[in-house]
Amino acid sequence: MATQANLLDVTAGRHLTALCKFRTTTWTATARARARARARAKKEGKARRKQLSPQEEEELLRKLIRLMKEMVQSDAPRRVKNEANYVLKQLQRLGLSFDHYRGKLMSVIRKAEHYLTSKDAAKADIEITSRDMALLMGTRLEESKKDAVQGDMLFASNEQLKQFLELEQKFQQGQTPSFGAGKPWEGAIMKYCLAPGISASAKDAVEYALRQISHATTCVRFEHVEYDSSKNGCQSSPAVYITSEDTGCWAYVGETPSEYLPDGMLSQQLNLQSPGCDTVGLAIHEILHALGMAHEQSRADRDQYVEIKWDNIESTQYVNFEILAGADQQRAYDILSVMHYDVNAFSKNEGQPSMKILDRGYGIYTQDSALFHMYQPGNRVGMTQLDADQLADLYAGKADGGTCTSRELQDEQTCEDKLVNGLAWEDENQNGCSDYDDPQLECGSNSVAQEVCCSCGGGQKLHVWVPK
Ligand SMILES: [Zn+2]
Repeated sequence: MATQANLLDVTAGRHLTALCKFRTTTWTATARARARARARAKKEGKARRKQLSPQEEEELLRKLIRLMKEMVQSDAPRRVKNEANYVLKQLQRLGLSFDHYRGKLMSVIRKAEHYLTSKDAAKADIEITSRDMALLMGTRLEESKKDAVQGDMLFASNEQLKQFLELEQKFQQGQTPSFGAGKPWEGAIMKYCLAPGISASAKDAVEYALRQISHATTCVRFEHVEYDSSKNGCQSSPAVYITSEDTGCWAYVGETPSEYLPDGMLSQQLNLQSPGCDTVGLAIHEILHALGMAHEQSRADRDQYVEIKWDNIESTQYVNFEILAGADQQRAYDILSVMHYDVNAFSKNEGQPSMKILDRGYGIYTQDSALFHMYQPGNRVGMTQLDADQLADLYAGKADGGTCTSRELQDEQTCEDKLVNGLAWEDENQNGCSDYDDPQLECGSNSVAQEVCCSCGGGQKLHVWVPK
């Protein structure tokens, strides 16, 4: 068990370039700002490529090309396929000099996550990992938050950290059946609100992630509450205040009472930097932290499945590989868990792995060592079946009625109408999406219906989870 002092000592220790917003008014100023941004992006790109060996560059490029091809052939809407096709051509022509179209690339990856389960992505050798995201963005945004534990898990204060450590201690003494790192939400309902300035892509990723998580179990629910400027957060507390304007991807772990939050904050913040953290997989990862889940490689049994390469990690970063006695071990160890680090996380240099998956670690997916390379830890495509099982374990007994079980993840997708501010959408005449099934109401006449309603070609593609 780490001491409180060394847990608090954790800093990412990596230089981070903040992405700037330009609020210039004149054309020349904007042009100048754009030129500066281009120069910076070029510099960043160079710095990033320096960290990659030619073989790693080649591997990432090949994976992205495969992913774009998959999207072009998928049943995604035409505009998504066109976007993927454009990116595919750029990748084939320009290789990894993708700074100019990084936004488009991220946008296709975000959509790909709606069509792929993590297991299918691995089988097709197109799994997107936290390492791929780091290489694309040129920085490790999941490791960028200062004073976070294990990169992105935030404890509001010494008191809350102490509470967490006490919970750990109680678990070790058999006094509490804790499965996660944080306190599960009362009644299995997590309240949340979105910052008024949240980016459209982060908002989309969050809305998708919330639905996916609530479909994965029979009990975990999310309740949208209003933003309140006078409270600099959500109207009621405890609640998760979701932002995209800060640096990095990070969250407070479990339900956090406001007395533990800094500077009079009433809601616990969860940040998804945009662009960079505004993908479905990263949104799910951070929301699962907010629900109380820890990192998969923190499990006490992890050394049977994973070898930590201590020589490739700065000693100041050892704490990120701390084992948490309270982490769930009831289920099989899952290297594809959306809560697992990738093999280069917190390594001294991007080329040297900080972790090696032992043959046994691949066991639940394949016994064939020739296929091991397809199952990469650090999946940020979406939840695995075992993630859902663990979440249900964490919330068993917390919901009204007591029981909480996971559902079973299917390969196919379904479409659901999008919510607007957490509610079912209605037009000015109180017609909802289902009313637009009626040919008398033409989808073409309402741009919101086209975006929100499945019956108008919009809506949200979601994975299907069926009762077990
Ligand atoms: Zn994390």
